[in-house]
Amino acid sequence: METDCLFCRIVAGEIPATIVRETERTLAFRDIYPKAPTHVLVIPKEHYGDVAVLAESDPGLAGEVLATAGAVAEAEGLLGDGFRLMFNTGVNGGQEVFHVHAHVLGGAPLGPMIAR
Ligand code: 5GP
Ligand code: ZN
Repeated sequence: METDCLFCRIVAGEIPATIVRETERTLAFRDIYPKAPTHVLVIPKEHYGDVAVLAESDPGLAGEVLATAGAVAEAEGLLGDGFRLMFNTGVNGGQEVFHVHAHVLGGAPLGPMIAR
């Protein structure tokens, strides 16, 4: 655990979150500032800075994050109309929390992938 990492502190139970799904190695909780009717973040419990580092270090765990994201989408009723799965990465990617997380977004048309 990284003591100064917000999402490690959520994993540790030090900061409250609305948890929607948990597996041995992953956690899914609602985004505090939802950008869509459904907005859930899926993380590995272990700290990795971004998706590239996670995929390089532990591809199996990267797969578990994707599997949890899919299970969340199903549980939230998003499979019929679809959803968006997003990993903001680094400064140009707009990443603000440097503990890798997948955004599961859905519940309404989300518009173009990138606003111009
Ligand atoms: P990023 O910009 O790094 O891809 O996404 C970080 C996300 O974390 C943002 O969507 C933001 O709303 C969310 N977030 C920031 N602080 C908290 C928090 O304390 N709790 C929860 N549940 N989400 C947070
Ligand atoms: Zn962390």
